[in-house]
Amino acid sequence: MAVPKKRVSIERRRLRHSNSRKILPQVIKCDHCGKYKLPHRVCRECGMYRGNQILNVKKAKSTR
Ligand SMILES: [Zn+2]
Repeated sequence: MAVPKKRVSIERRRLRHSNSRKILPQVIKCDHCGKYKLPHRVCRECGMYRGNQILNVKKAKSTR
């Protein structure tokens, strides 16, 4: 089994992981109702996606 020859310093470790921790949860505003939603997803509030009604959203608040 390959064993690292030298201990990776804290600076080098942080530099390496600095590239992989940039993905943040993005939210955009829904075009139809203006609520925040995930991009490229159907809106949870109104069930619309790109101008089409995808989900039948009831007036009462759903659990999900
Ligand atoms: Zn919406």
